[in-house]
Amino acid sequence: MLLDLSLEELDEYVLNLGLPKYRGKQIYDALYMAKQLDEVTTLSKDIKAKIEKDYPNWEILKILESEDGTKKMALKLQDDSIVESVLLKYKYGYTVCVSTQVGCRMGCKFCASTIGGLKRNLSAGEILLQVLIFNKILGGTIKDRKVTNVVLMGCGEPLDNYDNVTKFLMLLSSSDGLNISQRNISLSTCGLVPNIKKLADDGFNVTLTISLHAPNDDIRKKIMPIANAYKIKDILFACDYYFAKTGRRIIFEYSLIDEVNASEENMLELSKVLKGRSCHVNLIPLNSVKEKNLIGVARKRAYYLCGILEKNGISATVRRTMGEDIEGACGQLRNKLGGEN
Ligand code: SAH
Repeated sequence: MLLDLSLEELDEYVLNLGLPKYRGKQIYDALYMAKQLDEVTTLSKDIKAKIEKDYPNWEILKILESEDGTKKMALKLQDDSIVESVLLKYKYGYTVCVSTQVGCRMGCKFCASTIGGLKRNLSAGEILLQVLIFNKILGGTIKDRKVTNVVLMGCGEPLDNYDNVTKFLMLLSSSDGLNISQRNISLSTCGLVPNIKKLADDGFNVTLTISLHAPNDDIRKKIMPIANAYKIKDILFACDYYFAKTGRRIIFEYSLIDEVNASEENMLELSKVLKGRSCHVNLIPLNSVKEKNLIGVARKRAYYLCGILEKNGISATVRRTMGEDIEGACGQLRNKLGGEN
């Protein structure tokens, strides 16, 4: 698929078809403006016929808008797979939250994205497409982009789709394209230790976000099957490695689940575990997912628990929940339309 290619690779592609090199840039511009092939005016019918099989094809099935301005898009891909992505408006600009897989095989007990398991990985271009479409909706172009930040926090586990995700990071931060600096990109993972190290070794320096959700392995195992493969201790070693290589402070996500991980004692234990690290904790009262019987805590309780972390020297905030009314908040994205599962 042509969106998987860098500008250089696209130049090579057109040369191999016997076309002049400048056609590569024309196709690139069309792709980055999220144009469907029939909307492209710079290419002749003959050329379109030659590239048709490689040019992406998609359909926006639905865009829901939340009261707080958050937008959730359901996008149908070439093979009829559906992915959801979210646009969030902040004071400093617009953030797109992308999905990296259709479904997910991590099986976290509180997350809607895992329902039905993993269908398939998304290609680099399919992840990029989600950003390009929102940029277009906002009236942005390649050079005057409106999307300022990207978070890999939609459906899927990014580090379980390593090659496509890292190619996406290269395309997204390329100066030929949207030129979004890696500082403005956050990658969230449930903690695939070897690939956290690999990401650092491969020279990436995006903000690393770890879905921790527990102060110890016993609690973590109850809600996250991946905890059987990697201990918190090993995840923290990998975080140290990432920090040493990149200098980027690590963010820990902690969804507060009533009667599971939201006691005062849990916060004290968490403070001990994270003591002395250059990190920040985001507390999020669990968002409801109707198939799951876990319950989030009240916001007031979250602020109280946040205070305990801060008193114990841990930088922490309660994250603002956005888009919950359209099931666009953390853990609510799926690979089916609007909650039909
Ligand atoms: N698989 C990656 C990327 C998903 S990011 C990861 O695990 O980090 C989505 C974030 O929302 C993760 O931190 C996830 O643990 C969290 N999350 C999942 N379900 C949630 C829910 N119901 N309420 C709040 N947060 C949730």
